[in-house]
Amino acid sequence: MSKIAGPNLHATLSMLRRIGASVAGSIWPPGCMACGADVSDPFGLCPSCWADLRLVSMAGCDRCAKPMPVGAGQGLQCEDCARLRMRWQRGRAATLYGGSARRLVLSLKHGDRAEIARPMARWMRQAGRDVLTGADMVVPVPLHWTRRLKRRLNQSAELSRRIADAEGLAHGTGILLRTRATDSQRGRSFEQRQRNVAGAFALAEGADITGKRIVLVDDVMTTGATLNAGAAILRDGGAASVDILVFARVTRENDVRF
Ligand SMILES: [Zn+2]
Ligand SMILES: [Zn+2]
Repeated sequence: MSKIAGPNLHATLSMLRRIGASVAGSIWPPGCMACGADVSDPFGLCPSCWADLRLVSMAGCDRCAKPMPVGAGQGLQCEDCARLRMRWQRGRAATLYGGSARRLVLSLKHGDRAEIARPMARWMRQAGRDVLTGADMVVPVPLHWTRRLKRRLNQSAELSRRIADAEGLAHGTGILLRTRATDSQRGRSFEQRQRNVAGAFALAEGADITGKRIVLVDDVMTTGATLNAGAAILRDGGAASVDILVFARVTRENDVRF
């Protein structure tokens, strides 16, 4: 019996593996998520993309997640945050922008592979463990509808939905509205960006966020002007607290085109 079961079991397992691979392949083209190179895991990165994915592991600014010099303790703020007085409390980032992180962000933004949001959201949940604990609701930074038409998906909402689902938190999509399309923020200072997004957000009519602890999610944070405009609307709308969680943090040192 065992002589027959052995090969049969092997054949069955290998058939199941083939089916599994073809199911994975049908929802997800095989290959490294960042560069397309051959990898066995359909949600994986190849070794060279892993090597230049800079996960944020060291202590950073408590408010904007910018890496701080060695010795910085938890709860400390960088000079920019001390000066700018953001409307959110704590900020967490999964990666530093650049290399693989940049390729993942662009790929998600252009809607090529929405499933990329899955591992990105997982890294964000790890980085944002403390801010997600005790939160009531996860809210994405919204896109204006004209952008949404062009891009097919809101990359921030793809990330926030997966985070909310996995954490068992309410997903407050549609609570924060983008009332006008804004020009690109590229190459602008915090102050210029702040002017550019002034009045671009509003709270949805009838949305009740009184006393809610909200985690505001975006794919990338550069100066924080956009997140700050969104956080201000949520705080003015009665939220008890707003923390932010992004996939990638752009710092001056790696402020590259995107
Ligand atoms: Zn790769
Ligand atoms: Zn900071």
